[in-house]
Amino acid sequence: MNKQDISNIKLLLSTKKRIVIVPHKNPDGDAIGSTLGLYHYLLKGNHDVKVIAPNDYPNFLKWIPGENTILKHDSQTQECNALINEADIIFTLDFNAFHRTGNMETILSESSAIKIMIDHHQAPDDYATYMFSDVSMSSTCEMIYYFIDMLGDTNKVDSNIATCLYVGIMTDTGSFRFRSTTSRTHEIVAHLIEKGADNTNIHAHVYDSNSYNRLQLLGCALNNLKVIPESKTAYITLSQNELQKYDYKKGDTEGVVNYGLSLDGIVLAAIFIEDKQEGIIKISLRSKGDFSVNELSRAHFNGGGHTNAAGGRSHLSLQDTVEKFISILPSYSKALNNE
Ligand code: 5GP
Ligand code: MN
Repeated sequence: MNKQDISNIKLLLSTKKRIVIVPHKNPDGDAIGSTLGLYHYLLKGNHDVKVIAPNDYPNFLKWIPGENTILKHDSQTQECNALINEADIIFTLDFNAFHRTGNMETILSESSAIKIMIDHHQAPDDYATYMFSDVSMSSTCEMIYYFIDMLGDTNKVDSNIATCLYVGIMTDTGSFRFRSTTSRTHEIVAHLIEKGADNTNIHAHVYDSNSYNRLQLLGCALNNLKVIPESKTAYITLSQNELQKYDYKKGDTEGVVNYGLSLDGIVLAAIFIEDKQEGIIKISLRSKGDFSVNELSRAHFNGGGHTNAAGGRSHLSLQDTVEKFISILPSYSKALNNE
């Protein structure tokens, strides 16, 4: 995003606009935090602003300021489509291609609104009028802070905006520990705390709100953990039966894949989660160092993401998906053992 883009956007936002903000399907902390952070900022400019999520999100995000105003496209389709069709500007946050919004793909690609993409995933599609895409960023929330800064408005960051942005930076950096966390990230977070982000409380909301069933499900996942030492790989499976047994709710498996990566000497971790309703196996991949799970997922599992965190899916059975995964590991042997 260059200076000309910024001054164009400034001019655009100098008069009241109908604005829709969209995160990716199955929104996570960064997706909800960034959309709501931007929402509160744009409301200060007196715009008509709506956040439209493709679908629902986990309960541990259902306290963030403004969260109760989010529309869900899957259950409020007509209302959402009307808003999209009437929008002057559509911000697309924390994703890089319309298909990442599931069933919203068609209406978004047909919309004639000005599109502004703010995102940190690799290989973005070329749909945006204005694109702020930077894979080195810890989170889209950090980018929203820069966006507000580029517009000369950091003085407008209040406790609502600060709280929303803190959530996404915290969740996407694994609480400020992943490689993408820089001194600048910490400076921004310090500023957010000064502006009213209650860091202890936010952490408690997101991480200390487990149900008993969720911990039991984690126990089951850890029991299923397998290690392939020669490939420095660990993987976890969760079948639909296991999910049902522990009354699985959206978000319950968030972060479970990281337990595999926490094993000493492991470079690649995966979790395979059976979703009978969608007829797919949802895959999450994590890595350490330069081993790119984005590339692995793009090549074999219809997905993508970042170097150290990516997602994908498979239409094979749970067992066949795991077998496919194991069978491709030898072709990555050099990269895995170089780490
Ligand atoms: P997760 O494993 O938490 O679902 O996803 C990890 C990261 O990869 C997230 O940043 C997520 O946005 C991204 N990601 C997940 N699934 C896909 C996918 O199918 N395509 C792309 N491009 N990115 C994905
Ligand atoms: Mn993100």
